[in-house]
Amino acid sequence: ESPLMKLPKIELHAHLNGSLSKETINILASMKPDSMDMIRNADDMLLIGENEQKTLEDCFMIFKLIHEVTDRPELIKFATKAVIKDFAKENTKYLELRSTPRSNDYMTMDQYVEAIVSAIRESSLDEPSIVVKFLVSIDRSKGVEMAKEITSLAIKYHKKHKDVVVGMDMSGNMRGSKARDFFDLLSEARAAGMKISIHAAEVHNDEETEDVLKFEPERIGHGTFIPPLKCQNPRLMVLLQEKRIPLEVCLTSNLKGGTVDSFEDHHLGVLISEELPFTICTDDKGVFSTSLTKEYEIAAKTFKLTVEQMWKISYDSIDHIFGEEELKSNLKKYWQHWKEDNP
Ligand code: IMP
Repeated sequence: ESPLMKLPKIELHAHLNGSLSKETINILASMKPDSMDMIRNADDMLLIGENEQKTLEDCFMIFKLIHEVTDRPELIKFATKAVIKDFAKENTKYLELRSTPRSNDYMTMDQYVEAIVSAIRESSLDEPSIVVKFLVSIDRSKGVEMAKEITSLAIKYHKKHKDVVVGMDMSGNMRGSKARDFFDLLSEARAAGMKISIHAAEVHNDEETEDVLKFEPERIGHGTFIPPLKCQNPRLMVLLQEKRIPLEVCLTSNLKGGTVDSFEDHHLGVLISEELPFTICTDDKGVFSTSLTKEYEIAAKTFKLTVEQMWKISYDSIDHIFGEEELKSNLKKYWQHWKEDNP
């Protein structure tokens, strides 16, 4: 077994529907007989294999297909439990799942959120080795009106389940909208006590990236186009250095989504050499055919890091979680004991 499999890990950037394994998708499809044909035909399209590269636009199409097998509360609940189990199996000790609430003929957005929260609560009994929190995502491609509805929902469920619904994320296809149009809503969630992560600089857009850095979310998803190798505006790197906002780094996702050319060129190299805060994440472990262990292995191999250095990366991620302070110190103790037991 790989030592990085055994290493306790933290996952802070995992989209629920992008994290479903092929096995889970097949089980979900069998729980929903009317979708069998769609899934059978789409099977090869759903998950991006080794050495395959797509565009981000392709990825957004794939998510729409996957949504077909999680279009009812009981399916979302099953999917959530399956993803938690997958992460627990590879020694992920703390997981933040994110997802955009949807509604249709079979479910309301409230039911969508309730299904996830109850799956997380039930998993705390079935999978006691992993702590799981939920971030409510805004899909920016759905517009500001929809985002308003999602934000109210997020605040409502944060008030009801403070120990589970801890933050908000903004993601989705960035084409056709401006991040700043959503800042008032995100500020509202923050005023209600929630933490914020925003996808930024996943594609080249210096103006928007500067807006996001100045908004100062607690974390940023990707940040690929912040370091000077990828952008013409050196101010962005200066802002990142000043504000030290942790970046959620998703190596395979960026390669397969076509936003970096090789792992060697990935901005993680700059973050390591500049000693900037980051955390290693999967993004969509199903769609990108990866796992958190694989992402740790890629980082270690590409940037020549020892298991001890990987332990430190994982340990430092504890500081970036949206969970409570007491949990942070418990996780740190666990990591330290693990190190003593695994010299
Ligand atoms: P869901 O929110 O659980 O349905 O997970 C899938 C959704 O996550 C997609 O429809 C996108 O909105 C979002 N998503 C997943 N990966 C990315 C990414 O790399 N960039 C932006 N949004 C993403």
